[in-house]
Parts: sequence; structure tokens; C-alpha cells
Amino acid sequence: MPSAPSEHAATPEIILAGIREAFAGALRPDPELTIGEWSDQYRVLSRVSAGEPGRWRTSRTPFLREIMDCLSPSSPFSRVVYMKPAQIGGSEVLLNMLGYIIHYAPGPTMLVEPTVELAKRFSRQRIASLIDNTSVLAQRVSDPRERDSGNTILAKEFPGGVLVVTGANSSVGLRSMPARFLLMDEVDAYPPSASSGAAGTEEGDPVDLAIRRTATFANRQIAMVSTPTIAEASRIEQAYLESDQRKYYVPCPHCGVFQILRWSGVKWPDRKPADAWYECERCQGHIADHQKAAMLERGEWRAEAAGDGETAGFWLNALYSPWTIWSQLAKDFLRARKSPERMQTFTNTILAETFQQAGATKTDASELLGRRQPYRAEVMLPAGVVLITVGADLQADRIEMEIVGWGRDEESWSLAYIVLPGDPAQRDLWDGFDQVLSLTFEHPCGQEMEIAAACVDSGFHQPIVQQFCSDRGRRRALPKMYPIKGAAGQRPIWPRMHSKAKDNRPLWVIGVDAAKEALYARLKITEPGPGFCHFPISDQYDQGYFEQLTAETCRVRYTKGFASREWTKKAGARNEAIDARCYAYAALQSLIAGRFRLNKQAQHIEALMAAKSAGEEGHGQSAAQSAGRQERRPWIERQDWLERRSNS
Ligand SMILES: [Zn+2]
Repeated sequence: MPSAPSEHAATPEIILAGIREAFAGALRPDPELTIGEWSDQYRVLSRVSAGEPGRWRTSRTPFLREIMDCLSPSSPFSRVVYMKPAQIGGSEVLLNMLGYIIHYAPGPTMLVEPTVELAKRFSRQRIASLIDNTSVLAQRVSDPRERDSGNTILAKEFPGGVLVVTGANSSVGLRSMPARFLLMDEVDAYPPSASSGAAGTEEGDPVDLAIRRTATFANRQIAMVSTPTIAEASRIEQAYLESDQRKYYVPCPHCGVFQILRWSGVKWPDRKPADAWYECERCQGHIADHQKAAMLERGEWRAEAAGDGETAGFWLNALYSPWTIWSQLAKDFLRARKSPERMQTFTNTILAETFQQAGATKTDASELLGRRQPYRAEVMLPAGVVLITVGADLQADRIEMEIVGWGRDEESWSLAYIVLPGDPAQRDLWDGFDQVLSLTFEHPCGQEMEIAAACVDSGFHQPIVQQFCSDRGRRRALPKMYPIKGAAGQRPIWPRMHSKAKDNRPLWVIGVDAAKEALYARLKITEPGPGFCHFPISDQYDQGYFEQLTAETCRVRYTKGFASREWTKKAGARNEAIDARCYAYAALQSLIAGRFRLNKQAQHIEALMAAKSAGEEGHGQSAAQSAGRQERRPWIERQDWLERRSNS
């Protein structure tokens, strides 16, 4: 295999080619065809990547036509913003624009994905398929596998231009060349700041960095596409607010009144989401799924603001999707309603609206104190608990840990908060910790429950913690032990893969911001049920505990005009209680990542409870029989998640 050119795009030849083409491109008259017209005429979708393979038809998603028109070189707008739900053609708009550029309006072009990894994937899967399946493009871009093709995954030359694909996390990529066309995909997933690789210095907002590369082009075209995220921290919403704020109005098939499709229009009979319809805001007529295509075809974009004169902004939600039916949306909503996290996903990816975070406002310590309930896990577990995890935080002179019980839909019961004093270098502390981890709890179903998983923050004592976790893991199956490290920023609560510590032992890096968001959103829930947090009346859960638990606030911070979220705690406040809680939640997530299903476990425990009470109501013999049956049915019915993790 010939040695591959650097994937970082910026070879001097490519940069020079970009600059040359920048001036050549500026002189070439742009053709009259719009991007939409070009796509209908030339673009072919592959069987592999598209739900509907074959010729691209703008008429299938007529709302994309005007977006693509505004991105065409003949448009008076230099920036186009598309704030959209998931899977409604955002990438397709960018791909059509790319095809158009390569074929009709060649020039230096940069496409930015949230990370370099995603950029590679987008190039391999989507751009490669665009080029391979559209013959006029295949003729112009040589296959990167050919020798001297001048092409790599992240850099493609074509007559009159060059395309660089890069990640918003790479300032090297973002600085690689001047660009007339700048295509920015999923901008809300960009990191707050691009870094310059090895040195790790932060180089500022990637959107700013990229836009600066277009400054020398009077006829530049910038596309920003994204599903929105958190209110006040969303780049796409910010850009949309600077635009002329277009919304897509469609006519009611009954009364003809043009209107925006809104979530409030989706109606269904009580408990029957399958029978959902859309209700006209004027005549209250029922609009069925099959009537949508005609409405979309007759729809029109209407601007609702003056904007900055340079930016055309488009907003759309999933109600407009030709592939979505009302009943599916109703069902999605009912599922989402169960937790703030799912509600955020629903709000962002279906409604294409930013989500107002519950964690942004503070939960009051006294209110939580007043909400405590009389249960004592050391005597008997609350019946709703179906799984137990531990989160532990190692300090210089103690281990602080919380034992948390989990039930259906992640309703939780704090079972105990334990502080073990001691020197981490001494055996005593670890013996004490070992005893806590070996605790068993009596459940009303008649079973004893063990702790299923534990996350231990290694702090400054990583080797000791890792040694303890691996020793204990060898000795006993439960709990599953995870040495962890918390990390701020945009990352999932439980990592897809573990990292390695300096001595090569596994270390799991936990997304603490996401865990805190989940925790703070749940503390806001006031009724027992999905996500609700129960606390016992006990000395461990006193005013001081709740003050720690509520010590942090999530703020939106502005750096150079860019908003990012940041967790801060009051000066001097301790927050081990939050950490322990978040780690216990991460331990639950570790099991879920290993295919454990909490609600299935809840079902299993409920069945044990039902069997037990049926036995108690019957006469002695059947009670004994059912008790015998219970002996043979362990509290965790299927243990494949357990084995899976042990092998990993
Ligand atoms: Zn109507």
C-alpha cells in the first residue's frame, strides 16, 4: 500500500491550488441553474445510503427548494441558516450544494463537521456516495485510491477547485486554506473552542475561525445547518435570530388557511396516540397524514423578521417530514415525557427547538430536606428498588460514597450516604470500603439484593484504586467495579470505550456535565414516578447534605460572543455529594451499556412480588411452594450483561 498523504488536508500544493482557484473562480461567471434545479437534473441517490434510492426529487421535500435557491451563487444572500429537526435533509442540502460547486461553480470549498472523526466518516460515506453515483461528479473527481489522484479522504481536487473536509475541533484544518464556499454541518455539536493539536492550546470559536477563511471572497456562500440544542447556548438558534427568520406555511386542506405546523396541533384521543391527527388552527378540521404531501407542495416560506440583510434563515420541525406520521410523533412524545433527557431529545430532534434546561435554575436545599420520606434501607428496601449501584469519591483522607437504588424509568431511592475516614495508603480504609461493597439488602419480594455496579473516582490515587477494583473484581462477581475519572464538556455519561491509564490499566472517563444535567433536572421533579429522587429521613441526609447536592449551578457563559454551558459551584462549597451521586448514576449507565434493561428488571421484581403476595394470601403449603420457587429465581434474572462486561 502506498503511503497515504496526510489526512490533514493542508499540503502546500493544496493551499496554493486553493488560492489560485480562488481568483480564477471569482472571474468565472456562475451559471443560471439553481442548486435545486441542478439536483433534480443530475443527482442520483445510492441504494445503500438513501431510503428512497434513484433520482433526487426536490418535489419530495419541496421546502428544501428555497433553501437551496438561497445557497446558489445567484442568490443575494451570503449566509444561509437552516435550523432543523433530525433527518429532514440537512446533509442532503449540503451534498447538493457540494455537487453543484464541483460541477457548475468550482472554487475553494471547506466543509466542517463537528470533529475530524465525523468529517472522515461523512467523507467516506456521504461524499463518496454523492460522487460515485452522480456521473458528472465522478468524471471530475478522481478516485482517492488511484495513485497521484491528489485526493485523500479529507481533501479532494476537481477542475477549478478543491474541497477540504475538516472537523471543528481542529484549528489546523480550519486554517488550512481560504474558502469561497463554507459548509458547516451540525454547528451545535461543535466544541466551544478548536484546539491546535499537540500543544493543546485553545484557538477560539471554530465557527469564527472558519468564517474568517472566507473573508477575501466578495461572492462567498456560507451554509450553517444544525439541529438545535440548549437554549442560550445554541449556535444555530443564534444565527437564525440574526436572519430573516423564515417559517414554512402550508394551507389547510379544508379551509385553505396557511399556517405553520406546530406541536400543539397534533391531537389524539386519551391513551390512543395511534389515532392521532393534525387539527387546523382555523377551522379545527382534522388533517390526515395522506393530506400532508399536497400541503407541502403548496407551502411557502414567509420571513418573519427583517434580519441583517445578508442571512436567509429557515426553521422547520419534524411535523413537516414526508416520512413522519402524526401517530408516531404522539407516541414519541408520550415516551419522551418520562424523563427530562428524553424530553430534551424530543424538543431538539423532533420540534427543532432549543431546550430550556431545568438545571439552569437552582433547586432549593430546604425544599429537598422537607421532601424526605421514612424508609430505612438497612431494614427493608423500598419496593420500587430493582437495582443498586454505588458511586464513590476518593479524597486525601476519606472515601465518600452513596448507595442508590434504581426503579422503573430511573426513579431513584437514596439508600445510604457513607463517609469512611482513613488514609488511602493504608489497608484499613480499603477493608472498610470492601465491607460496604459486600452489603446485601432485604427486598419486600423476599430476595436479598447485592450492589450491582460501583464507580470509584480515582482522584490522585489512580494506581491504588485500579488495583483495588481489579483485585475485588477477580474475587467477587458483584458489584462490577469501575475505576473512573470525571471529565467536563460534551461527552456521554458512560463512555463507549474505556481509556487507559499511564500504566495501561483500564480507566473509564465519565461525562460529569451530562450526569449533573440529568441529576438537576430530576431534582426538579416533584411527584414520585419517572426520574423522581427519593431521600430517606436520616442523619446522613441532613441540611448539609442537600446544600452540597445543590451547590452547583449551570450557567451559560459567553466567550467572544459564543455561548457555552459551564457548571460552577459557590466558592468554598463542597460538592462530594453531587460527585458520588453522579458516579452512582454512571454505574447504572455502565450496566445499561452492557444491555441491562432497568424496566425489564422492574417487571421481573414485580412478578416476584406478585408471586409472593399470592402465596401469602393462599394457604401455608402454596406459600412454601412459592417461596421455594423464589429461592431458585435470583433477583437478577438474566446476567448476560454481567458476563459481557467481565470479558471486556
Ligand atoms: Zn382549516
